[in-house]
Amino acid sequence: MQLAVLTSGGDSPGMNAAVRAVVRTALDRGANVFTILEGYQGMVDGGDAIRRASWSDVSSILERGGTVLGTARCKAFRNREGRREAVLNMLERGIDRLVVIGGDGSLTGGHALQREWPGLVGELTAEGAISPQIAARHPRLRLVGLVGSIDNDMAGTDTTIGADTALHRITEALDALSSTAMSHRRSFVVEVMGRNCGYLALMSAVSSGADWVFVPEDPPSAETWRDDLIAHLSASRAAGRQNTVVIVAEGARDDLGQPITSAEVRDLIETTLNTEARVTVLGHVQRGGPPSAFDRNLGTLLGHAAVDALLNDESPVDAPIIIGMRGNRIVRLPLDDSLAQNRAVTEAIDAKDYKRAMSLRGGGFRAAHAVLKTLTQSQPDTLANGNKPLRLAVLNAGAPAPGMNAAVRAAVRLGLDRGHVILGVENGFEGLAAGKLKELGWMDVTGWATRGGSELGTRRMSLQGKDLYNVSRAVEEHEIDGILVIGGMSGFMAAHKLVAEREDYPALNIPIVCLPATINNNLPGSELSIGADTALNSIVGAVDKIRQSASAQQRCFVVEVMGRRCGYLATMAGLATGAERAYIHEEGVTISDMMGDLELLRRGFQAGRRLGLIIRSERANDVYDARFMQQLLEEEGGDLFDVRVAILGHLQQGGQPSPFDRISATRFASSCMEFLIEHARAKDPAAAYIGLEGGETRFHDLTNLPRMVDVANQRPKQQWWMALRHVARQLARVESGTTPRPDGDDA
Ligand code: ADP
Repeated sequence: MQLAVLTSGGDSPGMNAAVRAVVRTALDRGANVFTILEGYQGMVDGGDAIRRASWSDVSSILERGGTVLGTARCKAFRNREGRREAVLNMLERGIDRLVVIGGDGSLTGGHALQREWPGLVGELTAEGAISPQIAARHPRLRLVGLVGSIDNDMAGTDTTIGADTALHRITEALDALSSTAMSHRRSFVVEVMGRNCGYLALMSAVSSGADWVFVPEDPPSAETWRDDLIAHLSASRAAGRQNTVVIVAEGARDDLGQPITSAEVRDLIETTLNTEARVTVLGHVQRGGPPSAFDRNLGTLLGHAAVDALLNDESPVDAPIIIGMRGNRIVRLPLDDSLAQNRAVTEAIDAKDYKRAMSLRGGGFRAAHAVLKTLTQSQPDTLANGNKPLRLAVLNAGAPAPGMNAAVRAAVRLGLDRGHVILGVENGFEGLAAGKLKELGWMDVTGWATRGGSELGTRRMSLQGKDLYNVSRAVEEHEIDGILVIGGMSGFMAAHKLVAEREDYPALNIPIVCLPATINNNLPGSELSIGADTALNSIVGAVDKIRQSASAQQRCFVVEVMGRRCGYLATMAGLATGAERAYIHEEGVTISDMMGDLELLRRGFQAGRRLGLIIRSERANDVYDARFMQQLLEEEGGDLFDVRVAILGHLQQGGQPSPFDRISATRFASSCMEFLIEHARAKDPAAAYIGLEGGETRFHDLTNLPRMVDVANQRPKQQWWMALRHVARQLARVESGTTPRPDGDDA
């Protein structure tokens, strides 16, 4: 079987990961695989632009932005004539399976090719350009599309390859602008990409804590938006906020369809607020740079699944499918349906039916939009129902996780917005037991969305007899009506204990809700906890640097990452960096595994490679630790290569939270506050932990926690990501009998 892969349209970070996965999965399955340069142009041109690819042709591309295959807009391919040339070039090589990585234009082009294929094959046969035998062998084209687009503008998939990285770039820029805006008391109007899709604008506003956002799907009233914006900005300045950031999507407009431009917003701010305002148009910066860990893994998993679908004949011959991701699960969708829904959004916007446009966007988009509306109000609403305000406590527990502050900020503002009193607890349960609480105001949490660490302070603590008594007393004294615990396993366990001891301590009969925040991602009920994405990006960034440091000598690195006995970080980092192996406690470590790795490394280095990479989870095996691995590999490897250990340590717990962590923190916090408010006045107050499963946020009964946890190893009994391990193994191994590229590693 022969298949080909191309990248087309606008480039996006993570495309290379997809190309690598397509090539290597195909080779692993025994198929011949071709790469086509410059998108459809290469297909039309043929010749050298369509090349057989080998395992090492796609080495060292995982960490590179853009696309190594090149991409072009191809006029010729828009005509049937051009597509006939393309079919001829494909048939000359016996290719009748194709992976197209691109935006909706590219996939539409692919669709046309597939539709016309039989007809074009007939014409080419009649002309004598191909033999009837070849025509008979390749009557149809199978086509699978992967959506590479920074805009996240394809219906049916939660996210497109490149969107997460673009959010990283925008968020980095906004963080930088916020600090200078703060120093100068200046306003910034930032224009981000998105003609018809406000995804980047909306999500970057949530993750940066911007003051206001204009997106195409939610146009403000043409009559009042200027006054509304100015009233909001003045109120927020009056309340103490020192900098102003307004985000404008490229395609922003008012409800009459008139564009709202960044220049107009700037002029408005300058003339009415009498402050300096600056416009920053982020432009192509948003497309560039190394792909985020998420986009590397997304590209890899989708590329792998695309080849599966093509080679198992699971993609129809008469209509292309796209492979996307919904709630961390790979999905196959008819391209037609997704394109039709995309068109429906554009048509709704053009027809000024904005309600419909918003409803056609995914649930995550709508949820973020609703939360942002509340968060950006500078003053709380008043308590509507005449009830006494609730007093709700918020605390961080366990090790710091990036995103904790974003969660606290959102909880405080959403609580205040509903008219309640929010008490920030210092240093986790220890502070609660000591009665260290203070009321937090709207402006107390300004800027917290972007800060790493824990502003409230956090401790790892298990509650003993006396602590329970003290906590219960503090709850009484401070008249606490509900508690939000933002933390990891120790925080969840402590919260569970409070609930279990309610009979002895009646004061604890209040709603308690836990929000998963730990880099280890070892909590039940949630596929992802906040902090894990940031840690993963930190690891991947560090490994990129380690890799560069060793480009001159033959060296193997053993990189140790955190996670305790949960192998999530090691597994996902292994996938994102192309490590030969990721050792985790769940699978154990044996001498024979290590000897197997040694053999692989030895063969690779003998063939001229320069770098080996092994990742281990910190508690994968307490006897065979990183040092042991180093000694074993060094001793047995002889003079072929040397071995270095890099223990990444606490850099993984720190740093500014990634956009994804900030956004999930905000989303979780919003649901948790709703939960506390709803249950605070109930007779039997509930206790729960929240999580993200299949793209939805859900609550789970806290009393069941111990049953969901492998207590000895402090991780959930079921871990969804274990199913991804075989992909990493398949794609990183050294192809037997081939010579790796001498100038690079084999990642
Ligand atoms: P994107 O894939 O990023 O949306 P474009 O819309 O520019 O980018 O499409 C990339 C290429 O895909 C075009 O240059 C053209 O070769 C091909 N293409 C796009 N739309 C069509 C179409 N309707 N029919 C045939 N080919 C198309």
